[in-house]
Amino acid sequence: MSEASVSNRPDAAAAISTGFDAERIRADFPILQQQVNGQPLVYLDNAATTQKPRAVIDAISDYYCHDNSNVHRGAHALSDRATAKFEAARQKVADFVHAQAPAQIIWTRGTTEAINLVAASWGGANLQAGDRVLVSAMEHHSNIVPWQIVAEKTGARVDVIPVDETGTLDLQAFAAMLDEHVRMVSVNHVSNALGTVNPVAEMITLAHKVGARVLVDGAQAISHWPIDVQALDCDFYTFSGHKLFGPTGIGVLYGRRELLDAMPPYQGGGEMIETVSFAGTTYNQLPYKFEAGTPDIAGAIGLGAAIDYVNGLDRVAAAAHEDALLAYARDKALQVPGLRLIGTAANKVAVLSFVLDGAHPSDIGMLMDQQGIAVRTGHHCAQPLMEQYQLPGTVRASFSIYNTFEDVDRLFAALDKARGMLL
Ligand code: PMP
Repeated sequence: MSEASVSNRPDAAAAISTGFDAERIRADFPILQQQVNGQPLVYLDNAATTQKPRAVIDAISDYYCHDNSNVHRGAHALSDRATAKFEAARQKVADFVHAQAPAQIIWTRGTTEAINLVAASWGGANLQAGDRVLVSAMEHHSNIVPWQIVAEKTGARVDVIPVDETGTLDLQAFAAMLDEHVRMVSVNHVSNALGTVNPVAEMITLAHKVGARVLVDGAQAISHWPIDVQALDCDFYTFSGHKLFGPTGIGVLYGRRELLDAMPPYQGGGEMIETVSFAGTTYNQLPYKFEAGTPDIAGAIGLGAAIDYVNGLDRVAAAAHEDALLAYARDKALQVPGLRLIGTAANKVAVLSFVLDGAHPSDIGMLMDQQGIAVRTGHHCAQPLMEQYQLPGTVRASFSIYNTFEDVDRLFAALDKARGMLL
């Protein structure tokens, strides 16, 4: 939908038509049917975590009611059922991101653990003094600190790809930074603080030309459009289940097979071994080599159910709906005196980050909450970016498939009231 057609609408009551029935989607999410502080909940903190549809909640509950057992022990019927469901979920993830094989899908606790795994295992084995790791200025802390830790151990250096005032990554500067010392480029597909969609396909092509590997942090991309790791040609891709309508505690590392095969284990323990003796231990094959200990079985099954749910959506219409919500919200934001949008890149998902002259983001957040509106305030785990913009933080409204134009109206009505109280 063009911006013009959106901005001509007087208000949400005009029910901008994207051919997507957000009200019907909304009914699938029990948590949204509640009042907060005496008002119907408007949940606009989707970049932090998404809500869970009934199908996901039921899949987890069903697993615990009927199948709960440890996996890969093969001793009895429940264990067989748990293992079958757990591995079926892995296959669903592999299909969802178009991985070559389920063995390349490693279960982790989330994006954070997936990046730590690569930094510690791949980085520990491959980085040395003089090597460079490139991350962008708009990374989440989880894509900065693990690289700093391994850089400190190995003598490698972490260099920063610049981001401009609009929140756009400087692709030219990135290209100029690439040389044979760059061993890893680790960037987010979408910025959680700004919503910027980064040109990762171009970056991967450029990085591969100098022999660098590329990790794409897909935490904020995965819920918005179909991801194809083979088409991207990335070396690693990471995401968290809880940002894809699945449970917390489960996440995914996809890796190129030859890299995963060559990488040493991340953690030692049960499941990741083939044989153990005090003379020496041999490791299990992929993906189990990286899955020490009893995994989050219910989490994996819940994530599988979330993927089934997402696959049942018209994803093109869903993305158009989110885009229309963003355009509608942006038009309203531009009419608020003293409001400054933070992150105005041309290519972005439905994240509206802003500051208001004379008001601290956390005060705005508190007053919004009192009116039943859940937004995020603060640095969004992107302190270096906030430092660059010289901001203490922003107010961030992030939209998902179950948000409506009425939610946007409620957001701005509440903001108007908050302004009146603060200014
Ligand atoms: N990267 C990005 C871009 C994120 O938005 C987040 C979560 N806010 C993470 C990494 C970390 O994800 P998790 O906390 O689920 O590990």
